[in-house]
Amino acid sequence: MNENIAFIGAGNMARSLIGGLVADGWNPSALWAADPSEDQRALVGRHWPDIHVTDVNAEAIAHCEVLVLAVKPQVMAEVARAMAPQVQARKPLVVSIAAGVRSEDIERWLGGDLAVVRCMPNTPALVGSGATGLAANTRVDARQRDLAESLLRAVGMTVWLEDEAQLDAVTALSGSGPAYCFLFIEALEDAGTALGLPRETARLLALQTAFGAAKLALESDEDAATLRARVTSRGGTTERALAVLEAGELRELMQRALTAARDRSHELA
Ligand code: NAD
Repeated sequence: MNENIAFIGAGNMARSLIGGLVADGWNPSALWAADPSEDQRALVGRHWPDIHVTDVNAEAIAHCEVLVLAVKPQVMAEVARAMAPQVQARKPLVVSIAAGVRSEDIERWLGGDLAVVRCMPNTPALVGSGATGLAANTRVDARQRDLAESLLRAVGMTVWLEDEAQLDAVTALSGSGPAYCFLFIEALEDAGTALGLPRETARLLALQTAFGAAKLALESDEDAATLRARVTSRGGTTERALAVLEAGELRELMQRALTAARDRSHELA
């Protein structure tokens, strides 16, 4: 697929998507990036000289079949309303990566009657290992679903949701999830240091253990519970540690944390 794609906002997320697309073989001259910030445009130009950059959103929209909205949620209403006439003239597939902005609002701000896919990526997308939940409105056809999916697959894995409301739960799990993993890694590092390991050694062991466990689980046909059971010998060290974590009600804590994040995501939308 080599449809023309216009990015409105050429910040961190847009640049990671552009990087993923180009690495996937997407023709850079089919990509447009619009941003009022000269610095952001210069970053795009330096990395990908063949991409069209502009500070005029209308110019990018005039060439696109896919319009990626990658501005901050706070400015989305204003930015979308301003470009409604150009979008209505072109009727591209609209893909929004803005956290907490509902597709029906985006569609309304852009003048209505548009195919909109709303996505919730996460920060590992910056290194090509993102996890993105996608939800399509009823106007999105099969080809457009494939297009949106290939766009986000360029920076990691994707899952489709039946119902856009589930994006609040996705935000709680994978959107905010990298922070939970970082906290877990920090806690491992601190605990290892408290047991007498040099801080740097504890840091490296904690990081590689988290990475290795995730890679093993991803590459295995078995679920996490089975893999956990396999490293937990009866009467061994792991069993002792897991008993402490279960007694501390880690699962219940995680349930409460995700519920709090899901509820906050719903409030913000
Ligand atoms: P960012 O600040 O790096 O990028 C936003 C860009 O929008 C900036 O370059 C800014 O100059 C530009 N912009 C502002 N007004 C504009 C206008 N009128 N027209 C065109 N461009 C304009 O932010 P980011 O981290 O890339 O986030 C972008 C979107 O991605 C946000 O909506 C955010 O919710 C979503 N998102 C980000 C992450 C993440 O991990 N960074 C994760 C999930 C979702």
